Amino acid sequence: MMYILVKKNLDQKLSEWSAKYEVVAPQKVEAYSQFLPFTESSELALNEPHNTRYPPKSLFLPQSEVMLKYNKRLNKFDEIRILPEKRIIFGIRPCDASALTLLDTVFDTEEYQDPYWAGRRENTILVGLGCSEPPSTCFCTTVGYGPFNHDGLDAIMTELDDVFVIEALSAKGEKLFSDFPAATNEHELSVLRIQSNAKQGMNQAFETEGLKQTLDHLFESDYWSEIAESCLGCGVCTYLCPTCFCFDIVDEVQRNERVRNWDTCMFRIYSQEASGHNPRPTISERTRQRLMHKYSYWLDHIEKIGCTGCGRCVRYCPVGLDIRAMLRTASNFESEVVNVG
Ligand code: SF4
Ligand code: SF4
Repeated sequence: MMYILVKKNLDQKLSEWSAKYEVVAPQKVEAYSQFLPFTESSELALNEPHNTRYPPKSLFLPQSEVMLKYNKRLNKFDEIRILPEKRIIFGIRPCDASALTLLDTVFDTEEYQDPYWAGRRENTILVGLGCSEPPSTCFCTTVGYGPFNHDGLDAIMTELDDVFVIEALSAKGEKLFSDFPAATNEHELSVLRIQSNAKQGMNQAFETEGLKQTLDHLFESDYWSEIAESCLGCGVCTYLCPTCFCFDIVDEVQRNERVRNWDTCMFRIYSQEASGHNPRPTISERTRQRLMHKYSYWLDHIEKIGCTGCGRCVRYCPVGLDIRAMLRTASNFESEVVNVG
């Protein structure tokens, strides 16, 4: 079922929802946009050409989170679990919602359930905003998704001139929008046209057919040192990636707290063992881990690429390293290896 939300009523609707839910939406922060709680003075950033700089994974797996407070003298501890009662994330892009479904296969499985992650996923309604004009750094269609992909969303909005047309995709989404006015046939035709144009306007960024086999084959080659030559090892590409999930749990003994923090395989110390041995001592090996995880190991894990083509690593790498170019080079590099051989 499709509904409409008249744009001039948007702030009022978000305010009404705020009485019952924590409402989070993208808002302008300096040169970027960021998911923040909606208030009467919020300046929404739904029309930014790019998705938010910080991925919404941070709303489910915060960059730093206290898990326990303890008292060593009394030998006691309190588990800290601050979860939202009910929350709406409004305006999440389809690539970021898809990324959450990938992370579900890590944090919420039959064998293991992370109660922090699962509690937040359970309590959250995801209202997506499809991308009518995907920026040039996005490549969701190349990796099997799309600018109006439904994965993980409870509803998806398509922006027309004066209204958002909303398609409910789950029982949660249907419940949220069921008293909204129904979309007309004319609205639905406009939606089909916009969605089709958006998809067709995106180019194939690199060939994915056989890419896993190519990367596996290049494991011991010079390809990695070549593509990683200018990498600084800063970790921006992984911190801002919606599908990266490495974390570290540390005891902050001065504060008597156990804290979970984001970590990244791009840091040298991440893989360093207590003996001092490091199986990934150089940036080439760490770059190999980053790319192999997304384009080979995820396929072993769930037969899906672990990248949703959000483009953040392309936009924010301080030295302009572009994962698309790296992966195009892989196929060329392999044919050189094969020809020389
Ligand atoms: S690897 Fe880059 S493009 Fe792919 S999901 Fe991560 S940040 Fe986005
Ligand atoms: S953002 Fe760029 S420079 Fe920094 S670790 Fe990633 S690829 Fe290397």
